[in-house]
Amino acid sequence: MSENAARRLSRMFHRISIAIAAEKDHLSDLDGAIGDADHGITMALGFQAVNGELAKLDLDHMLPSDVFTVAATAFLDAVGASTGPLYATAFRRAAQALKQEESLSPAGQAAIVEAITAGIKERGKGQRGDKTMLDAWIPATEAAVGARARAAGLSEMWDGILDAAEAGANSTRSMVATRGRAARLGERSLGHMDPGAASAVIILRAMRDALIEHGVDE
Ligand SMILES: [Mg+2]
Repeated sequence: MSENAARRLSRMFHRISIAIAAEKDHLSDLDGAIGDADHGITMALGFQAVNGELAKLDLDHMLPSDVFTVAATAFLDAVGASTGPLYATAFRRAAQALKQEESLSPAGQAAIVEAITAGIKERGKGQRGDKTMLDAWIPATEAAVGARARAAGLSEMWDGILDAAEAGANSTRSMVATRGRAARLGERSLGHMDPGAASAVIILRAMRDALIEHGVDE
């Protein structure tokens, strides 16, 4: 029997954690330009905590939604402020979206991206153009929905998601922040990529790499 979906998701979170840790200094530098220079550290701590909690689970007897529920609580416990509640709500929404899923179908994977974005939007009350992580997550979701609508294969869907997220993150360079600490800088935030958008790309790339590895659901 192939690896179950909960195990695949756990592996996905492991991969996100490694990728974020590798870019920790870069993310904090980006945050230093427009904020308090802690984004890399907080994100690394958050995903490290998620891995710690997932390692305690009997994944063979768990559903994909359970993994996201545990991830939400672990992330929030480790990262109280700013991004903590955003990704906690995002992962809770993903858990709800996967309620009936035992496998991780392409539709289920698209639903994860959609649900994460919906959760961040709901919690942060933000939108596109605010120079936040949503400038990566919203285009990523649009790409996922578009790929599902034309019944694209799994790799094609994820490549589209990643291209859209990267373009979105790059577009934050020419935006003036209106939310969060960076908003105090006003025009001075111009020219810098938003650190939350940058980490969103790292997360999505790790998700793609983990989820298309065994493209059995295609
Ligand atoms: Mg910060």
